Amino acid sequence: MRIDATFVRSAVSAQDFPRDGAAEIALVGRSNVGKSTLINALVRRRVARTSAAPGKTRLANIYRVVRDGAAPLYLVDLPGYGYARGRDATRDLDEVTRAYFGRVGWIAAVLLVDARHPGLESDSAAWHWLRESVDDAHIAATKIDKLSRGERIRAMRELESVFQHPVAPVSAFTGEGLDELWKVIDRLANNNSSSPPRRRRSRQRPETARRRLKN
Ligand code: GDP
Repeated sequence: MRIDATFVRSAVSAQDFPRDGAAEIALVGRSNVGKSTLINALVRRRVARTSAAPGKTRLANIYRVVRDGAAPLYLVDLPGYGYARGRDATRDLDEVTRAYFGRVGWIAAVLLVDARHPGLESDSAAWHWLRESVDDAHIAATKIDKLSRGERIRAMRELESVFQHPVAPVSAFTGEGLDELWKVIDRLANNNSSSPPRRRRSRQRPETARRRLKN
């Protein structure tokens, strides 16, 4: 399959997000979870800049992806959370993340968690927040190549028990799980074009989020 991926822009506020109606899938996760590396592996080229310093990117990086036979979509790489140790991830979310999820329209996200660290409080908090804020969300466990067979079975069991949701194991290094993750992304993207947004219980408008962040 031919994949064409281009970096569109780094968004700082709601005005910078795509407006052409193409499906968007947001990728959310702790800093250093392997988000940029995974994006590069998914599109099979180096469009996303990876970094060794956690918490460096405070912008939402937007990539437009075109694949043979599939409608164009955007992958939206939101700033990593969890860089301030011990803090609640939802308080840690950047303004740009809140603005992104505060928009009207159908919104889908994939939460990335590190397969080696199941059950981190900040990941659980982010998952609860996402479930209340977006129309559809899935979870992928990154860096699965780092675990032995036994560790992997234990970690996947623990992850699914913590999140009460299926978790897709992936490795950007070996390529494991990438086809399955594309299927998840396609499912989310197709729902995007066919379902009306459901009512959200606590989706915040950007103005509210901004006010909250100041307090
Ligand atoms: P981000 O902050 O979430 O964008 O994380 P990066 O993509 O910059 O990755 C953080 C670190 O994890 C880097 O040192 C990567 O080489 C490493 N990493 C990312 N994905 C994988 C993976 O699938 N397997 C392994 N073993 N390491 C990974």
